[in-house]
Amino acid sequence: MPRTLTFRLTLWYGSIFAISTFSTFLLIYFVLSSGIKRRTDQSLINELKEFSSLMALKGMEATKTQMDLDAESEGVNKIFFRVLSSEGSEIASSNLSSWPPVRVGKAVIKGLKRGSSHVFETLSLPGYSYKVRIIYGHIGPGKIVQIGRSLEDDERFIKMVRQLFGLTMSVMLLLGVLIGWFMGKRAMQGVENVTNTALKISEGALDQRAYVRARGDEVERLATAFNKMLDRIHVLIIEMREITDNIAHDLKTPLTRIRGLVEMGLKRSRCFEEYEGIANQTMEECDRLMRIINTMLDISEADAGAAKLDREEVDMAEIVRDACDLILPIAEAKGLRVTTDLPDHAFLRGDLKKLQRMVINLLDNALKYTPPEGTIRLSIERNQEKVVITISDSGIGISPNDLPRIFDRFYQCDQSRSKGGAGLGLSLARAIARAHGGDITVMSAPDEGSQFTVTLP
Ligand code: ADP
Repeated sequence: MPRTLTFRLTLWYGSIFAISTFSTFLLIYFVLSSGIKRRTDQSLINELKEFSSLMALKGMEATKTQMDLDAESEGVNKIFFRVLSSEGSEIASSNLSSWPPVRVGKAVIKGLKRGSSHVFETLSLPGYSYKVRIIYGHIGPGKIVQIGRSLEDDERFIKMVRQLFGLTMSVMLLLGVLIGWFMGKRAMQGVENVTNTALKISEGALDQRAYVRARGDEVERLATAFNKMLDRIHVLIIEMREITDNIAHDLKTPLTRIRGLVEMGLKRSRCFEEYEGIANQTMEECDRLMRIINTMLDISEADAGAAKLDREEVDMAEIVRDACDLILPIAEAKGLRVTTDLPDHAFLRGDLKKLQRMVINLLDNALKYTPPEGTIRLSIERNQEKVVITISDSGIGISPNDLPRIFDRFYQCDQSRSKGGAGLGLSLARAIARAHGGDITVMSAPDEGSQFTVTLP
Protein backbone atom coordinates (compact mmCIF):
# COMPACT_ATOMS: atom_id res chain seq x y z
CA MET A 1 0.00 0.00 0.00
CA PRO A 2 2.62 2.69 0.90
CA ARG A 3 4.24 2.08 -2.50
CA THR A 4 1.08 2.66 -4.51
CA LEU A 5 0.67 5.87 -6.47
CA THR A 6 -2.80 6.36 -4.96
CA PHE A 7 -1.31 6.33 -1.47
CA ARG A 8 1.42 8.76 -2.43
CA LEU A 9 -1.06 11.08 -4.16
CA THR A 10 -3.25 10.97 -1.06
CA LEU A 11 -0.26 11.85 1.07
CA TRP A 12 0.62 14.74 -1.22
CA TYR A 13 -2.90 16.13 -1.25
CA GLY A 14 -3.17 15.77 2.56
CA SER A 15 0.17 17.47 3.12
CA ILE A 16 -0.54 20.31 0.71
CA PHE A 17 -3.95 20.93 2.29
CA ALA A 18 -2.47 20.78 5.79
CA ILE A 19 0.48 23.05 5.04
CA SER A 20 -1.58 25.66 3.22
CA THR A 21 -4.32 25.75 5.89
CA PHE A 22 -1.73 25.81 8.66
CA SER A 23 0.20 28.72 7.18
CA THR A 24 -2.99 30.69 6.47
CA PHE A 25 -4.16 30.23 10.04
CA LEU A 26 -0.75 31.04 11.43
CA LEU A 27 -0.78 34.32 9.55
CA ILE A 28 -4.31 35.14 10.70
CA TYR A 29 -3.39 34.18 14.26
CA PHE A 30 -0.38 36.49 14.38
CA VAL A 31 -2.19 39.42 12.78
CA LEU A 32 -5.10 38.92 15.18
CA SER A 33 -3.07 38.52 18.38
CA SER A 34 -0.77 41.45 17.66
CA GLY A 35 -3.85 43.58 16.81
CA ILE A 36 -5.47 42.66 20.12
CA LYS A 37 -2.25 43.45 22.02
CA ARG A 38 -1.95 46.81 20.33
CA ARG A 39 -5.58 47.62 21.14
CA THR A 40 -5.09 46.73 24.86
CA ASP A 41 -1.92 48.83 25.08
CA GLN A 42 -3.67 51.75 23.40
CA SER A 43 -6.57 51.59 25.86
CA LEU A 44 -4.05 51.61 28.76
CA ILE A 45 -2.27 54.64 27.29
CA ASN A 46 -5.64 56.40 26.98
CA GLU A 47 -6.45 55.63 30.62
CA LEU A 48 -3.04 56.98 31.64
CA LYS A 49 -3.61 60.23 29.73
CA GLU A 50 -7.08 60.60 31.17
CA PHE A 51 -5.83 60.24 34.76
CA SER A 52 -2.86 62.56 34.21
CA SER A 53 -5.16 65.39 33.10
CA LEU A 54 -7.65 64.61 35.88
CA MET A 55 -4.85 64.73 38.45
CA ALA A 56 -3.59 68.01 37.05
CA LEU A 57 -7.05 69.54 37.02
CA LYS A 58 -8.80 68.13 40.08
CA GLY A 59 -6.16 66.67 42.36
CA MET A 60 -5.65 63.38 44.12
CA GLU A 61 -9.06 62.85 45.72
CA ALA A 62 -11.04 63.27 42.50
CA THR A 63 -8.62 60.99 40.70
CA LYS A 64 -9.01 58.24 43.33
CA THR A 65 -12.83 58.47 43.13
CA GLN A 66 -12.66 58.24 39.34
CA MET A 67 -10.36 55.22 39.65
CA ASP A 68 -12.84 53.41 41.91
CA LEU A 69 -15.67 54.21 39.55
CA ASP A 70 -13.78 53.02 36.47
CA ALA A 71 -12.64 49.79 38.13
CA GLU A 72 -16.17 49.06 39.30
CA SER A 73 -17.83 49.84 35.98
CA GLU A 74 -15.47 47.51 34.06
CA GLY A 75 -16.48 44.52 36.27
CA VAL A 76 -14.79 42.26 38.80
CA ASN A 77 -11.06 41.75 38.23
CA LYS A 78 -10.94 43.52 34.89
CA ILE A 79 -8.84 46.58 35.72
CA PHE A 80 -7.10 48.10 38.71
CA PHE A 81 -5.38 51.42 39.36
CA ARG A 82 -2.69 52.38 41.85
CA VAL A 83 -0.95 55.65 42.54
CA LEU A 84 2.64 55.16 43.64
CA SER A 85 5.33 57.42 44.95
CA SER A 86 8.40 57.83 42.79
CA GLU A 87 10.03 55.18 45.03
CA GLY A 88 7.26 52.69 44.30
CA SER A 89 5.29 52.75 47.56
CA GLU A 90 1.50 52.84 47.29
CA ILE A 91 -0.22 56.20 47.86
CA ALA A 92 -3.73 55.33 46.71
CA SER A 93 -5.50 52.59 44.71
CA SER A 94 -8.82 51.33 43.43
CA ASN A 95 -10.38 48.43 45.34
CA LEU A 96 -7.71 45.68 45.18
CA SER A 97 -9.40 43.24 47.57
CA SER A 98 -10.36 40.72 44.81
CA TRP A 99 -6.86 40.91 43.18
CA PRO A 100 -3.90 38.87 44.27
CA PRO A 101 -0.99 41.01 45.51
CA VAL A 102 0.59 42.89 42.59
CA ARG A 103 4.26 43.68 42.93
CA VAL A 104 5.72 46.93 41.74
CA GLY A 105 8.34 46.41 39.09
CA LYS A 106 11.44 48.21 40.40
CA ALA A 107 13.20 47.97 37.03
CA VAL A 108 10.17 49.53 35.39
CA ILE A 109 10.21 52.45 37.81
CA LYS A 110 13.88 52.93 37.05
CA GLY A 111 13.00 53.04 33.37
CA LEU A 112 10.42 55.76 34.07
CA LYS A 113 12.95 57.76 36.03
CA ARG A 114 15.23 57.65 33.04
CA GLY A 115 12.65 59.70 31.17
CA SER A 116 10.25 57.30 29.39
CA SER A 117 6.68 58.61 29.34
CA HIS A 118 5.27 55.16 30.06
CA VAL A 119 6.47 51.58 30.41
CA PHE A 120 4.58 48.31 29.82
CA GLU A 121 4.91 44.99 31.62
CA THR A 122 3.00 41.70 31.40
CA LEU A 123 2.64 39.78 34.67
CA SER A 124 1.34 36.40 35.75
CA LEU A 125 -0.18 36.89 39.18
CA PRO A 126 -0.09 34.00 41.67
CA GLY A 127 -3.50 32.37 41.97
CA TYR A 128 -4.92 34.26 38.97
CA SER A 129 -5.55 32.29 35.77
CA TYR A 130 -4.98 35.09 33.27
CA LYS A 131 -2.09 37.37 32.56
CA VAL A 132 -2.26 41.07 33.39
CA ARG A 133 -0.98 43.86 31.16
CA ILE A 134 0.34 46.75 33.21
CA ILE A 135 1.26 50.32 32.27
CA TYR A 136 3.33 52.64 34.47
CA GLY A 137 3.39 56.36 33.81
CA HIS A 138 3.89 59.75 35.47
CA ILE A 139 0.68 61.23 36.74
CA GLY A 140 2.04 64.26 38.54
CA PRO A 141 5.24 65.46 40.19
CA GLY A 142 6.67 62.55 42.21
CA LYS A 143 3.66 60.39 41.43
CA ILE A 144 3.41 57.33 39.24
CA VAL A 145 0.23 55.56 38.21
CA GLN A 146 0.10 51.78 37.72
CA ILE A 147 -2.86 50.54 35.66
CA GLY A 148 -3.33 46.79 35.24
CA ARG A 149 -5.79 45.27 32.81
CA SER A 150 -6.66 41.59 32.91
CA LEU A 151 -6.06 39.84 29.59
CA GLU A 152 -8.92 37.42 30.32
CA ASP A 153 -11.11 38.49 27.37
CA ASP A 154 -8.15 38.55 24.95
CA GLU A 155 -6.90 35.16 26.07
CA ARG A 156 -10.38 33.67 25.84
CA PHE A 157 -10.75 35.05 22.33
CA ILE A 158 -7.34 33.75 21.23
CA LYS A 159 -8.13 30.35 22.75
CA MET A 160 -11.37 30.24 20.79
CA VAL A 161 -9.50 31.13 17.62
CA ARG A 162 -6.99 28.36 18.33
CA GLN A 163 -9.75 25.81 18.89
CA LEU A 164 -11.48 26.90 15.71
CA PHE A 165 -8.18 26.58 13.92
CA GLY A 166 -7.63 23.06 15.27
CA LEU A 167 -11.09 22.01 14.18
CA THR A 168 -10.83 23.54 10.71
CA MET A 169 -7.37 22.06 10.30
CA SER A 170 -8.63 18.55 11.12
CA VAL A 171 -11.58 18.91 8.75
CA MET A 172 -9.33 20.25 5.98
CA LEU A 173 -6.83 17.48 6.53
CA LEU A 174 -9.54 14.85 6.35
CA LEU A 175 -10.96 16.53 3.26
CA GLY A 176 -7.51 16.70 1.67
CA VAL A 177 -6.86 13.03 2.32
CA LEU A 178 -10.31 12.05 1.03
CA ILE A 179 -10.01 14.16 -2.12
CA GLY A 180 -6.45 12.92 -2.66
CA TRP A 181 -7.54 9.33 -2.27
CA PHE A 182 -10.52 9.83 -4.58
CA MET A 183 -8.47 11.61 -7.26
CA GLY A 184 -5.67 9.08 -7.01
CA LYS A 185 -8.10 6.18 -7.27
CA ARG A 186 -9.81 7.77 -10.27
CA ALA A 187 -6.57 8.54 -12.06
CA MET A 188 -5.14 5.12 -11.37
CA GLN A 189 -8.30 3.23 -12.34
CA GLY A 190 -7.24 3.18 -15.99
CA VAL A 191 -3.73 2.02 -15.13
CA GLU A 192 -5.13 -0.68 -12.88
CA ASN A 193 -7.40 -1.76 -15.71
CA VAL A 194 -4.36 -2.16 -17.99
CA THR A 195 -2.43 -3.96 -15.22
CA ASN A 196 -5.27 -6.39 -14.59
CA THR A 197 -5.57 -7.13 -18.30
CA ALA A 198 -1.81 -7.70 -18.52
CA LEU A 199 -2.01 -10.06 -15.54
CA LYS A 200 -4.87 -12.02 -17.07
CA ILE A 201 -2.92 -12.29 -20.33
CA SER A 202 0.17 -13.49 -18.49
CA GLU A 203 -2.02 -16.19 -16.98
CA GLY A 204 -2.95 -17.33 -20.48
CA ALA A 205 -6.10 -15.41 -21.46
CA LEU A 206 -4.59 -14.03 -24.68
CA ASP A 207 -7.89 -12.64 -25.98
CA GLN A 208 -8.31 -10.24 -23.01
CA ARG A 209 -8.27 -6.51 -23.81
CA ALA A 210 -8.19 -3.42 -21.58
CA TYR A 211 -11.56 -1.67 -21.22
CA VAL A 212 -11.61 1.68 -23.06
CA ARG A 213 -14.30 4.23 -22.07
CA ALA A 214 -13.62 6.73 -24.88
CA ARG A 215 -12.83 9.62 -22.53
CA GLY A 216 -9.65 10.27 -24.48
CA ASP A 217 -7.37 10.99 -21.52
CA GLU A 218 -3.72 9.95 -21.25
CA VAL A 219 -4.40 6.70 -19.41
CA GLU A 220 -7.00 5.76 -21.94
CA ARG A 221 -4.55 6.42 -24.75
CA LEU A 222 -2.23 4.04 -22.95
CA ALA A 223 -5.03 1.43 -22.83
CA THR A 224 -5.76 1.91 -26.54
CA ALA A 225 -2.07 1.63 -27.44
CA PHE A 226 -1.82 -1.40 -25.18
CA ASN A 227 -4.79 -3.06 -26.91
CA LYS A 228 -3.33 -2.27 -30.33
CA MET A 229 -0.04 -3.81 -29.28
CA LEU A 230 -1.88 -6.89 -28.03
CA ASP A 231 -3.75 -7.22 -31.34
CA ARG A 232 -0.45 -6.98 -33.23
CA ILE A 233 1.20 -9.53 -30.94
CA HIS A 234 -1.81 -11.79 -31.33
CA VAL A 235 -1.49 -11.65 -35.12
CA LEU A 236 2.25 -12.23 -34.86
CA ILE A 237 1.75 -15.22 -32.60
CA ILE A 238 -0.74 -16.72 -35.04
CA GLU A 239 1.66 -16.08 -37.92
CA MET A 240 4.57 -17.55 -35.99
CA ARG A 241 2.48 -20.58 -35.17
CA GLU A 242 1.62 -21.01 -38.85
CA ILE A 243 5.25 -20.55 -39.83
CA THR A 244 6.41 -23.17 -37.36
CA ASP A 245 3.64 -25.51 -38.53
CA ASN A 246 4.73 -24.91 -42.11
CA ILE A 247 8.41 -25.35 -41.31
CA ALA A 248 7.60 -28.61 -39.53
CA HIS A 249 5.50 -29.72 -42.49
CA ASP A 250 8.00 -28.68 -45.14
CA LEU A 251 10.91 -30.27 -43.36
CA LYS A 252 8.96 -33.38 -42.55
CA THR A 253 8.13 -34.24 -46.17
CA PRO A 254 11.75 -34.56 -47.43
CA LEU A 255 12.79 -36.26 -44.19
CA THR A 256 10.01 -38.84 -44.55
CA ARG A 257 11.13 -39.46 -48.10
CA ILE A 258 14.77 -39.82 -47.01
CA ARG A 259 13.73 -42.25 -44.32
CA GLY A 260 11.62 -44.22 -46.83
CA LEU A 261 14.55 -44.42 -49.22
CA VAL A 262 16.95 -45.62 -46.52
CA GLU A 263 14.40 -48.11 -45.27
CA MET A 264 13.93 -49.43 -48.82
CA GLY A 265 17.70 -49.87 -49.14
CA LEU A 266 17.92 -51.77 -45.88
CA LYS A 267 14.98 -54.12 -46.48
CA ARG A 268 16.95 -56.53 -48.66
CA SER A 269 20.28 -56.67 -50.41
CA ARG A 270 20.33 -54.96 -53.80
CA CYS A 271 22.63 -54.55 -56.72
CA PHE A 272 25.02 -51.60 -57.00
CA GLU A 273 22.86 -49.67 -59.47
CA GLU A 274 19.87 -49.85 -57.19
CA TYR A 275 21.92 -48.53 -54.23
CA GLU A 276 23.28 -45.82 -56.46
CA GLY A 277 19.74 -44.77 -57.38
CA ILE A 278 18.68 -44.69 -53.72
CA ALA A 279 21.77 -42.69 -52.78
CA ASN A 280 21.10 -40.18 -55.58
CA GLN A 281 17.48 -39.71 -54.54
CA THR A 282 18.55 -39.33 -50.89
CA MET A 283 21.00 -36.67 -51.94
CA GLU A 284 18.30 -34.81 -53.88
CA GLU A 285 16.02 -34.79 -50.87
CA CYS A 286 18.90 -33.59 -48.70
CA ASP A 287 19.58 -30.81 -51.20
CA ARG A 288 15.93 -29.83 -51.06
CA LEU A 289 16.13 -29.65 -47.28
CA MET A 290 19.33 -27.61 -47.50
CA ARG A 291 17.69 -25.26 -50.01
CA ILE A 292 14.76 -24.59 -47.70
CA ILE A 293 17.05 -23.97 -44.74
CA ASN A 294 19.37 -21.76 -46.76
CA THR A 295 16.49 -19.71 -48.13
CA MET A 296 15.20 -19.23 -44.59
CA LEU A 297 18.64 -18.00 -43.56
CA ASP A 298 18.74 -15.70 -46.60
CA ILE A 299 15.37 -14.22 -45.70
CA SER A 300 16.58 -13.61 -42.13
CA GLU A 301 19.66 -11.93 -43.49
CA ALA A 302 17.67 -9.74 -45.89
CA ASP A 303 15.26 -8.91 -43.07
CA ALA A 304 18.19 -7.56 -41.11
CA GLY A 305 18.11 -4.66 -43.58
CA ALA A 306 20.53 -2.50 -45.50
CA ALA A 307 23.46 -3.22 -43.15
CA LYS A 308 23.89 -6.70 -44.63
CA LEU A 309 23.93 -5.54 -48.25
CA ASP A 310 27.01 -5.66 -50.40
CA ARG A 311 26.27 -2.48 -52.32
CA GLU A 312 27.78 -1.56 -55.64
CA GLU A 313 26.68 0.17 -58.86
CA VAL A 314 24.44 -2.37 -60.64
CA ASP A 315 22.51 -2.23 -63.88
CA MET A 316 19.00 -3.50 -63.30
CA ALA A 317 18.35 -3.71 -67.05
CA GLU A 318 21.29 -6.08 -67.39
CA ILE A 319 20.18 -8.18 -64.44
CA VAL A 320 16.71 -8.58 -65.96
CA ARG A 321 18.17 -9.34 -69.43
CA ASP A 322 20.51 -12.01 -68.00
CA ALA A 323 17.67 -13.59 -66.02
CA CYS A 324 15.57 -13.60 -69.14
CA ASP A 325 18.32 -15.35 -71.11
CA LEU A 326 18.56 -17.91 -68.32
CA ILE A 327 14.88 -18.83 -68.35
CA LEU A 328 14.32 -18.52 -72.08
CA PRO A 329 15.11 -22.19 -72.88
CA ILE A 330 12.71 -23.40 -70.17
CA ALA A 331 10.03 -20.96 -71.33
CA GLU A 332 10.40 -22.05 -74.92
CA ALA A 333 10.28 -25.68 -73.93
CA LYS A 334 7.01 -24.98 -72.13
CA GLY A 335 5.62 -23.03 -75.09
CA LEU A 336 5.64 -19.64 -73.34
CA ARG A 337 6.24 -16.32 -75.04
CA VAL A 338 8.59 -13.94 -73.26
CA THR A 339 8.53 -10.25 -74.27
CA THR A 340 10.70 -7.50 -72.87
CA ASP A 341 10.60 -3.74 -72.85
CA LEU A 342 13.90 -2.74 -71.29
CA PRO A 343 16.00 0.41 -71.46
CA ASP A 344 19.71 0.11 -72.25
CA HIS A 345 20.63 0.75 -68.65
CA ALA A 346 18.96 1.29 -65.30
CA PHE A 347 21.65 1.96 -62.76
CA LEU A 348 21.21 1.89 -59.02
CA ARG A 349 23.28 1.04 -55.97
CA GLY A 350 22.48 -2.43 -54.72
CA ASP A 351 23.58 -5.93 -53.91
CA LEU A 352 24.05 -7.63 -57.29
CA LYS A 353 23.62 -11.23 -56.11
CA LYS A 354 20.55 -10.47 -54.05
CA LEU A 355 18.87 -8.47 -56.80
CA GLN A 356 19.58 -11.29 -59.29
CA ARG A 357 17.99 -13.70 -56.85
CA MET A 358 14.92 -11.48 -56.48
CA VAL A 359 14.37 -11.25 -60.25
CA ILE A 360 14.93 -14.98 -60.73
CA ASN A 361 12.41 -15.80 -57.99
CA LEU A 362 9.76 -13.64 -59.64
CA LEU A 363 10.51 -15.01 -63.09
CA ASP A 364 10.54 -18.56 -61.77
CA ASN A 365 7.02 -18.05 -60.40
CA ALA A 366 5.81 -16.58 -63.68
CA LEU A 367 7.17 -19.69 -65.42
CA LYS A 368 5.68 -22.07 -62.89
CA TYR A 369 2.22 -20.55 -62.75
CA THR A 370 1.66 -19.78 -66.44
CA PRO A 371 0.25 -22.64 -68.49
CA PRO A 372 1.63 -23.36 -72.02
CA GLU A 373 0.83 -20.79 -74.73
CA GLY A 374 0.88 -18.05 -72.11
CA THR A 375 2.92 -14.86 -72.13
CA ILE A 376 5.45 -13.40 -69.72
CA ARG A 377 6.19 -9.67 -70.01
CA LEU A 378 9.18 -7.91 -68.52
CA SER A 379 9.60 -4.17 -68.45
CA ILE A 380 11.58 -1.49 -66.67
CA GLU A 381 10.70 2.14 -66.20
CA ARG A 382 13.00 4.56 -64.50
CA ASN A 383 13.34 8.17 -63.48
CA GLN A 384 15.70 10.16 -61.25
CA GLU A 385 14.30 8.65 -58.07
CA LYS A 386 13.41 5.06 -58.80
CA VAL A 387 13.60 2.02 -61.05
CA VAL A 388 10.32 0.15 -61.50
CA ILE A 389 10.52 -3.44 -62.73
CA THR A 390 7.29 -5.07 -63.84
CA ILE A 391 6.96 -8.83 -64.35
CA SER A 392 3.55 -9.85 -65.58
CA ASP A 393 2.18 -13.14 -66.79
CA SER A 394 -1.04 -14.48 -68.26
CA GLY A 395 -1.04 -17.37 -65.80
CA ILE A 396 -3.44 -18.90 -63.30
CA GLY A 397 -3.59 -15.76 -61.15
CA ILE A 398 -4.12 -15.53 -57.42
CA SER A 399 -7.45 -15.44 -55.60
CA PRO A 400 -8.27 -12.32 -53.53
CA ASN A 401 -8.20 -14.51 -50.37
CA ASP A 402 -4.63 -15.59 -50.99
CA LEU A 403 -3.36 -12.27 -52.32
CA PRO A 404 -2.59 -10.58 -48.97
CA ARG A 405 -0.66 -13.61 -47.77
CA ILE A 406 1.51 -14.72 -50.67
CA PHE A 407 4.51 -12.81 -49.28
CA ASP A 408 4.27 -14.66 -45.93
CA ARG A 409 6.91 -17.25 -45.26
CA PHE A 410 5.88 -20.75 -46.36
CA TYR A 411 2.58 -19.52 -47.70
CA GLN A 412 1.44 -21.38 -50.77
CA CYS A 413 -1.89 -21.16 -52.52
CA ASP A 414 -3.64 -24.53 -52.62
CA GLN A 415 -3.25 -25.09 -56.36
CA SER A 416 0.51 -24.46 -56.16
CA ARG A 417 1.45 -27.02 -53.52
CA SER A 418 2.23 -29.64 -56.17
CA LYS A 419 4.63 -27.32 -58.03
CA GLY A 420 7.56 -28.14 -55.81
CA GLY A 421 8.17 -24.75 -54.20
CA ALA A 422 8.36 -24.18 -50.47
CA GLY A 423 6.51 -20.87 -50.30
CA LEU A 424 9.66 -18.91 -49.56
CA GLY A 425 10.48 -17.34 -52.94
CA LEU A 426 8.28 -14.26 -52.62
CA SER A 427 9.19 -13.73 -48.96
CA LEU A 428 12.86 -13.59 -49.95
CA ALA A 429 12.15 -11.34 -52.96
CA ARG A 430 10.22 -8.86 -50.84
CA ALA A 431 12.82 -8.95 -48.03
CA ILE A 432 15.52 -8.13 -50.61
CA ALA A 433 13.49 -5.26 -52.14
CA ARG A 434 12.78 -3.82 -48.69
CA ALA A 435 16.42 -4.13 -47.61
CA HIS A 436 17.19 -1.89 -50.62
CA GLY A 437 14.60 0.63 -49.42
CA GLY A 438 12.07 -0.49 -52.04
CA ASP A 439 9.08 -2.83 -52.11
CA ILE A 440 7.13 -5.33 -54.20
CA THR A 441 3.42 -5.05 -54.89
CA VAL A 442 1.14 -7.43 -56.73
CA MET A 443 -2.04 -7.22 -58.77
CA SER A 444 -3.71 -10.44 -59.75
CA ALA A 445 -7.01 -12.12 -60.51
CA PRO A 446 -7.66 -15.84 -60.92
CA ASP A 447 -7.28 -17.00 -64.55
CA GLU A 448 -6.31 -13.51 -65.69
CA GLY A 449 -2.66 -13.52 -64.72
CA SER A 450 -0.54 -11.66 -62.23
CA GLN A 451 1.59 -8.55 -62.24
CA PHE A 452 4.43 -8.09 -59.77
CA THR A 453 5.90 -4.57 -59.52
CA VAL A 454 9.27 -4.03 -57.88
CA THR A 455 10.13 -0.46 -56.97
CA LEU A 456 13.74 0.28 -56.05
CA PRO A 457 15.12 3.70 -55.15
P1 ADP B 1 6.42 -21.03 -54.15
O1 ADP B 1 7.67 -21.67 -53.81
O2 ADP B 1 5.22 -21.80 -53.78
O3 ADP B 1 6.37 -20.49 -55.52
P2 ADP B 1 6.43 -18.22 -53.44
O4 ADP B 1 6.70 -17.54 -52.15
O5 ADP B 1 7.31 -17.87 -54.56
O6 ADP B 1 6.38 -19.75 -53.15
O7 ADP B 1 4.95 -17.86 -53.83
C1 ADP B 1 3.92 -18.00 -52.91
C2 ADP B 1 2.63 -18.37 -53.59
O8 ADP B 1 2.19 -17.29 -54.38
C3 ADP B 1 2.79 -19.52 -54.56
O9 ADP B 1 2.57 -20.73 -53.91
C4 ADP B 1 1.71 -19.25 -55.58
O10 ADP B 1 0.51 -19.83 -55.16
C5 ADP B 1 1.55 -17.74 -55.56
N1 ADP B 1 2.19 -17.13 -56.72
C6 ADP B 1 3.42 -16.54 -56.74
N2 ADP B 1 3.67 -16.04 -57.96
C7 ADP B 1 2.60 -16.32 -58.74
C8 ADP B 1 2.26 -16.07 -60.11
N3 ADP B 1 3.08 -15.41 -60.91
N4 ADP B 1 1.06 -16.49 -60.54
C9 ADP B 1 0.19 -17.14 -59.72
N5 ADP B 1 0.47 -17.39 -58.42
C10 ADP B 1 1.65 -17.00 -57.93
